[in-house]
Amino acid sequence: MSSTKYIFVTGGVTSSLGKGILASSLAKLLQARGYSVTIQKLDPYINVDPGTLNPYEHGECYVTEDGAETDLDLGHYERFLNTPTSQANNVTTGRIYQSVINKERRGDYLGKTVQIIPHITDEIKRKIKFLGNKRNYDIVVTEIGGTVGDIESLPYIEAVRQLKWELGSDALVVHLTLVPFLAASGELKTKPTQHSVKTLLENGVQPDVLVLRTEHDLGIGIRKKVALFCNVDIDSVVQSIDVSTIYDVPNKMREEKLDVTVLKKLKLPLKEEPALIEWNNFLTQHKNPEHEVKVALVGKYVELQDAYKSIAESLVHAGAANLCKVKLDWIHSEDINKKNVTETLGGYDGVIIAPGFGHRGIEGKILATKFVRENNIPFLGICLGMQIAVVEYARNVLGYKDADSTEMNEKTPYPVIDLMEEQKGITEKGGTMRLGAYDCHIQDKKSKMFEAYGKADIRERHRHRYEFNNQYLEDFKKGGMAPVGLNPDTNLVEVVEIPSHKWFVGVQYHPEYSSTVLSPHPLFVAFVKAALNK
Ligand code: GLN
Repeated sequence: MSSTKYIFVTGGVTSSLGKGILASSLAKLLQARGYSVTIQKLDPYINVDPGTLNPYEHGECYVTEDGAETDLDLGHYERFLNTPTSQANNVTTGRIYQSVINKERRGDYLGKTVQIIPHITDEIKRKIKFLGNKRNYDIVVTEIGGTVGDIESLPYIEAVRQLKWELGSDALVVHLTLVPFLAASGELKTKPTQHSVKTLLENGVQPDVLVLRTEHDLGIGIRKKVALFCNVDIDSVVQSIDVSTIYDVPNKMREEKLDVTVLKKLKLPLKEEPALIEWNNFLTQHKNPEHEVKVALVGKYVELQDAYKSIAESLVHAGAANLCKVKLDWIHSEDINKKNVTETLGGYDGVIIAPGFGHRGIEGKILATKFVRENNIPFLGICLGMQIAVVEYARNVLGYKDADSTEMNEKTPYPVIDLMEEQKGITEKGGTMRLGAYDCHIQDKKSKMFEAYGKADIRERHRHRYEFNNQYLEDFKKGGMAPVGLNPDTNLVEVVEIPSHKWFVGVQYHPEYSSTVLSPHPLFVAFVKAALNK
């Protein structure tokens, strides 16, 4: 195909309408029709990436194979499309300004005044077109973060206006809005949608397709009204009704023929009808479980479900693979103490200790891990969770009183988790962790790891500064905790297990970033299976 087509997904009326899921679902249908598709997120905040953001601010930070710290929507993109994303798939205002300012300092603008239009908008357009020009996708779906009318997103909307003008029928705007239902009068209301389309029009952008989030069926009357007031074809008014799982949305969008409308407008052949066979097999298994397990996720951001988004979704995928409903409870590590740990965790079939940073909630995680270890409950420790497992083992089994990670206690007599050599001397916080995919070799063919993956050489994504301190390697081996996975180049311990335990695995990496609907992550699948066998 000669030229890449660009689809922009904007949002109006309120945030949290699910632009990411809509973009993913549309892309899924186009992919199922035989097109190569990628999805990009433009975020209007000034942080260069979300790596420095507290999860309370922005939910989980998702890490790509190439080590980019990105918005959690990229997790949805990968989970839906089953293809990796990269740094180029997430662009923030901070990153745009950083590259413009770097160019200005180099003198690239040859004495010109550097302005939002054209310099910032040109940089935005360059980042959008990069995926088409350099990576050769047939279709690039670009999700514009925020809600139209926000001051922050204006340069992005302006870039979309320019691109629509330049690209003609090679570009298209899908605008997602809300049609609220007023219970008192029993009516669905279209006015917020009309206003939000007007806001887009004030910025020079006429949306081509409107997707309306609604709790109730819209009916033809509402669709006609919206079409009339917003200058769109009636078949370009698409209903997105609330569903029980995000994974239903591609089917819903197919019923609404969103993919057909979009392809016709982009003047692309429809190709084959999207079959979504494997996808629907997953949905059937997900909706018809034969078993149930109760899993506890112990973390410190439990008030905010977005903070551990990828872990929750990985358990959905792994549950379906085991024909099992995973009932996931989020447990605040600060609430766990010696007195209540048995009562709090006793009823679970499996426990996950979440990733994290800093002191808060650490002692609760250590108590939880001790309880789970002593009671033979399946355990999965992820990143900080693995480090906690090592500290707990050192203190309570090896007898190293006050053993710790130097992240928590720099003066510990037993620094069983310590800063990585390459991290010493690094002072800047942004983008400086050990990030992205690294190789891991599984040493022991009898390990739970090998059983789960079915192979010895794997590659997984990382985001950490501290590591297992190899000075203690022999002590742990002798004491019954096995370093079963090592990085082949650096010998960093990537995985620990307790062979005498029913199922106890701690991983320094983040398996949750690479679980998708069509490829559930083997470690989560094995964890759920172990929970099921408990
Ligand atoms: N805080 C730990 C470290 O930096 C663990 C990080 C994590 O859980 N992602 O090594």
